[in-house]
Amino acid sequence: MLAALAEIVGADQVVTDGDVLRSHGTDWSGRWAVTPIAVVRPAETDEVTRVLRACAAAHVSVTAQGGNTGLVGGSVPTRQDSVVLSTTRLRTTGKVDQRTRQVTVGAGVTVAELQALAHERGLTYGVDLAARDTATIGGTVATNAGGVRVVHFGDTRSQVVGLEAVFADGSVMSHLHGLPKDSAGYDLVKLLVGSEGTLGVVTAVRVQLHDALPSERVTTLIGVPFLARAVELFQSVAPRDQLLAAEYIDVTGMRLVCEVAQLPHPVGDHWPYYLLVETVHEPFLPEDVDAAVDRRLWIYRERQPEAAATTGLVHSLDVALPLDELDAVVEALAALARPHLVFTFGHLAEGNLHIQVVGPNADDISVTDRVLELVASHGGSVSSEHGVGRSKTRHLALCRDPAQLRAMAAIKNALDPGRLLNPGVLFTPESLESATIASS
Ligand code: FAD
Repeated sequence: MLAALAEIVGADQVVTDGDVLRSHGTDWSGRWAVTPIAVVRPAETDEVTRVLRACAAAHVSVTAQGGNTGLVGGSVPTRQDSVVLSTTRLRTTGKVDQRTRQVTVGAGVTVAELQALAHERGLTYGVDLAARDTATIGGTVATNAGGVRVVHFGDTRSQVVGLEAVFADGSVMSHLHGLPKDSAGYDLVKLLVGSEGTLGVVTAVRVQLHDALPSERVTTLIGVPFLARAVELFQSVAPRDQLLAAEYIDVTGMRLVCEVAQLPHPVGDHWPYYLLVETVHEPFLPEDVDAAVDRRLWIYRERQPEAAATTGLVHSLDVALPLDELDAVVEALAALARPHLVFTFGHLAEGNLHIQVVGPNADDISVTDRVLELVASHGGSVSSEHGVGRSKTRHLALCRDPAQLRAMAAIKNALDPGRLLNPGVLFTPESLESATIASS
């Protein structure tokens, strides 16, 4: 099979060096490690088609991988007999259409590169996240990434107006017109967004760009006694169209980042939580708040994942909650995680908590089970923006009813009956089997 792959992409684009394979076989979290047979790097859509057909013929599964910054084990194979299909050479970039303010880019273009391209034309790409220099457009589309601008521009799905992907049988779905209105049948473009490499390999994406962000925006960090107060403040600091970000850090994360990055404490260090807001103008704030204003305050929030990683192996649980449930959940975490350390930060405006549990072994998910059950009991979702990956396949049923689970499995079985793409991601083998039996 390796010879067949070399014929398609060239021998130098089929990598079998042990160190390289190992680096592609583990993700940023370091929780999972499986060494693939090879890393294959196609440069065109037609090569992706032929790679998928060669792997299907050899009964070898395929994991699509972009920047490998995912945090749920979706970007690394779950089985040894797998090939990693790296999308980093899919870099064809179209021209920005100034009338529609849309552009089509290859899946391997990074978020930072697309942001720079938009900036050159006086525009903005509405998705931003700390992994911007490495995370790819294909990966952010596959996970429906959120990030720090969702409150202003919406998630990745809201920016995607067209997409090209290769299905498991090698057929190519090309829908890159970017028509603002189009009601012709099911919306397969939006279905592919958030499909985590289980339905097809995304090769190109057409995105909507926006007016450039004002260069003089104001960043404010405020100490607060509880999250409900942070919610009140972010909702009142500015008219909604002038609120560009609303994030938070808890006191453990704040002390950690100060220590790791050798930063001074920006406001009083006794507050349990810190709200970070970015606004177009000076924010409206009550007189008695403990606040600091400086663009550089972003560093305290952006370096949270890196600071967390210095504490050891982190189980990073990305969840979404209704805003009025946040305090009840965070207050219950310490008891659920005991004896392990737990702290949180996240995208406050969407009720998106990143719960960091430090201490359990890589395969010990007992705290995860308890925390995700708690989140579901408060009306939350087990994934806000990172996806289900392999880490939460067993927890998906906590926030999706049986009818939705059966429909998802039926779509997977229809588009990838041979289970070629990302086996073990999003679904447990049992959930796919039971959907097959139910429909036969
Ligand atoms: P990968 O990690 O390579 O893959 C992620 C998933 O997408 C896998 O299931 C993979 O199979 C699939 N995939 C990748 N490319 C394709 C393709 N072309 N076609 C089909 N499937 C594909 N995420 C957020 O949402 N918001 C944040 O604020 C955020 N901050 C982060 C900060 C740090 C420091 C780090 C390390 C990560 C952060 N993440 C965040 C998580 C991560 O960056 C996102 O999940 C991102 O979308 C992954 O992009 P990637 O190119 O690295 O994809």
